[in-house]
Amino acid sequence: MTKKDQIFNCLQCGECCRGEGGVYFETSELTGVAEFLGMSVDRLQETCLTVRNGRLYIKTGADGLCLFNRQVCGIHPVKPKPCRDWPFFRGNLIDPVSFEAAKNNCPGIDPEATFEEFRSYAAINYPKLTEEI
Ligand code: SF4
Ligand code: SF4
Repeated sequence: MTKKDQIFNCLQCGECCRGEGGVYFETSELTGVAEFLGMSVDRLQETCLTVRNGRLYIKTGADGLCLFNRQVCGIHPVKPKPCRDWPFFRGNLIDPVSFEAAKNNCPGIDPEATFEEFRSYAAINYPKLTEEI
């Protein structure tokens, strides 16, 4: 296996589901999540989300994990885009500082990978995500 093949390998540790206000929703994603959970959009916003700087963020529980975390993602089929893309979400692909922070928080990313290697890996394995940047 080449180094490029080893750049990301998810360890299913759940660390990316930790942290207050780290994951945001687009308003276009709300209806799908509410339907999946069998609740109204208003109820979803009231109980699970908080607004900051005009954006909707998922609340965390006392354990520091996303409210939807149940060992595995409790809304996996409809989880928001940052969760679907992680760790190849836009910020990590355009900002070396964000990438270094991601390496510190996600043990699935090769700690020796460079920003350029990470971008190249994403371009090869997740071309749709890199087309967006
Ligand atoms: S933090 Fe990284 S290795 Fe852990 S579950 Fe999330 S993506 Fe996988
Ligand atoms: S929505 Fe799912 S994948 Fe995203 S942070 Fe919450 S539990 Fe994790």
